[in-house]
This record gives sequence, C-alpha cells and structure tokens, in this order.
Amino acid sequence: MRTARTADETKVSQRVGQNIKRIRTARGLSGRALAELVQGTGHRLHHTSLNTIEAGANSKGGQRAVTVDDLVAISAALGMRPEQLLAEPECAVCLGFPPAGFACTACGTTTPRA
Ligand SMILES: [Zn+2]
Repeated sequence: MRTARTADETKVSQRVGQNIKRIRTARGLSGRALAELVQGTGHRLHHTSLNTIEAGANSKGGQRAVTVDDLVAISAALGMRPEQLLAEPECAVCLGFPPAGFACTACGTTTPRA
C-alpha cells in the first residue's frame, strides 16, 4: 500500500517554499513582515512557521509542510494566485515577479510600481 506522502508531494511543498522565499526576498519583505501580512488575511501563521515552510518539508527532519490554508493565505498576502506559488518558476532569477519598479535582467519582465 502506498503511503500518502510521496516524493512528489515533498517536492511540491519544497517548490512552494522556494517560490515564497524568492518572492518575499524580491519584495524586500522580512519573514516577520510577510507573516504579519498573512495574519492580516485572517490566517494564523507564526513567522517561525513561515521559515519552516520556506525551508521546505523534509521527510528526514519532520518539518511542517505547507498546508492548503497556508498556501491560499500566503498567496493572498502576496497578491498572487495560489497556482503561481505551485508552479515551476518561468524565470529562475525573478520567478516572473521582479521587485516593483524593476525589470528582470534575465527575462526582461517588468513589474509596475504599486
Ligand atoms: Zn526574470
């Protein structure tokens, strides 16, 4: 019998964590600042939990995997759709989301200043 946790499932949570960290960093947000934005959506997420999510679930370490509720709240806090955080980034440098007001040197994507 297959276990619920597959290698692929771990990979997706790791990719989500990497995407969150990349986008958070690109926007100049600290982990604490993003956690506060997430809490503003009504979802309880401590910044240490966010750190763990960004590090990615690790079957050996038994770390906390990103939940669907986390994913939806974090994407809302970032003004993005959940599937954007699930997807393999289109650009390895900016993930398709360069910081506001900047153009990505790798893919040329620009993000209008908010
Ligand atoms: Zn780019």
